[in-house]
Amino acid sequence: MARQVLGAAGRPIDSVSSTSGPATASTWYTDTAVAAPARGTVTSDIDVDVCVVGGGLAGLTVAREVARRGWSVVLIEAREIAWNASGRNTGFVLPGFACDMEAIVKRVGFDDAKVLWALSEAGLEYVRTTIRETGMPGVDPVEEGWLKVAKSDNADDDLATVRLIGQDLGGQIEGWPVERVRDVLKSNHYFHAVYTPHAFHIHALNYALGLAAAAEAAAARIFENTPALSIDTAGVRKRVVTPSGRLRADHVVLAGNVHLGNLVPRIAGTLMPVWTYVMTTKPLGGRLESAITYRGAVSDTDLADNHYRIVGGDRLMWTGRATTWPHDAKRFAHALTTDIREVYPQLGGIEIEHIWTGLIGNSLHRMPQIGELSTRIWLASGFGGHGINTTAMAGDIIARAITEGDDTWRRFVPFELVWSGGAIGRAAAQVHYWWYRHNERTKAKQARRREAEYGSVS
Ligand SMILES: Cc1cc2nc3c(=O)[nH]c(=O)nc-3n(C[C@H](O)[C@H](O)[C@H](O)COP(=O)(O)OP(=O)(O)OC[C@H]3O[C@@H](n4cnc5c(N)ncnc54)[C@H](O)[C@@H]3O)c2cc1C
Repeated sequence: MARQVLGAAGRPIDSVSSTSGPATASTWYTDTAVAAPARGTVTSDIDVDVCVVGGGLAGLTVAREVARRGWSVVLIEAREIAWNASGRNTGFVLPGFACDMEAIVKRVGFDDAKVLWALSEAGLEYVRTTIRETGMPGVDPVEEGWLKVAKSDNADDDLATVRLIGQDLGGQIEGWPVERVRDVLKSNHYFHAVYTPHAFHIHALNYALGLAAAAEAAAARIFENTPALSIDTAGVRKRVVTPSGRLRADHVVLAGNVHLGNLVPRIAGTLMPVWTYVMTTKPLGGRLESAITYRGAVSDTDLADNHYRIVGGDRLMWTGRATTWPHDAKRFAHALTTDIREVYPQLGGIEIEHIWTGLIGNSLHRMPQIGELSTRIWLASGFGGHGINTTAMAGDIIARAITEGDDTWRRFVPFELVWSGGAIGRAAAQVHYWWYRHNERTKAKQARRREAEYGSVS
């Protein structure tokens, strides 16, 4: 069999992570992180059953689940555990996928969509159970659900979603009328909402650190500052080359998200990099109560915009302004505070305490990439902005595939690896975001004008 070597030793492995800020970028999460051990690099050759490349949530969950089943596993991380998306996200633990369920039903049919929904719910429950059973510190789950609020008065699409998920797919979800929404989110920008009661939110970085500790407790070995430079996928034993040692493994799991870059360019090319900006305010004190009394997670758009929650007692964490090219997060300070002031003018002046960026890898169909790429080379990637439950789901599915021959991963075969269009695709996506935002804004303004002219809507 011809040798197949992925990657090119000596070249920088990752063309996008260098633009995502240093691994040690200061965020609200790093400032409130629990103590974590510094982990060493690979310095010699190691033989193992499974080698996992990538120390984000996907890789950590695979490593933990493989180790729990008694197999030997090594995880290598190019920088530090959860230095990017997995430790910088907004912390919403939701059911479902980045792709909406209507589109999934269209693609795979109702019965298969129902199975996929149940798998996504299992991912959410995995996170909840893991936090509880391991007693991981500093994760502070807030079990108050998720409100997806509408900025327009047309409820048709949301009613259809409630029917599909709540009645047909067996999910827990309900509609909230305008009065109920405005009772807890005191803004005339908001109309009805879809409420997911069993969703929750967490300290993202502490969850990832807790997961790493849980994987190690199950006997997984984790190395940091150890990039995989190339992989020889031929033969029974796969070889993963790192700067100071080689790993030989029966199975390799690629969990590098959009950072895989030159290691597997064909796979990296199937993900669109999307930078999203997150800020936390300084303490808002009693002012916060005048605007928000709801303690759960809130989103007011389908884009990676305006997702927020209360953290640290009286601070607001607010995420938005996705771009397909990297920018200094500080550049978005004004835009994000303007977004907050528009929705909640009663908050007055907003002072930012932390602002940072994180990198999402979006597949074109917005579904995760889960499966066996070639014999015993596995992929767990493309979780987009909906990765906390889906990385948990994928980690469990891939660990079961490796150790038990379980074929649940085949449920994701219909969501193929599709090239994301390179620079042209990124430019097109950026234009789409601008257009979408403008369109949403226009509809929202019209809805507020209608309400001002004709009175309340319920
Ligand atoms: C700002 C932001 C907000 C978000 N909010 C939410 C939210 O509220 N809820 C939700 O569900 N999802 C959210 N997400 C999405 C979620 O965070 C991601 O989908 C998830 O963390 C992806 O995990 P991952 O393990 O696939 O990737 P990553 O966290 O990117 O980890 C991949 C790791 O692989 C490493 N790696 C890559 N190549 C190599 C190599 N060759 N050798 C060694 N290591 C390598 C990288 O260094 C990296 O650490 C958000 C994302 C962002 C950026």
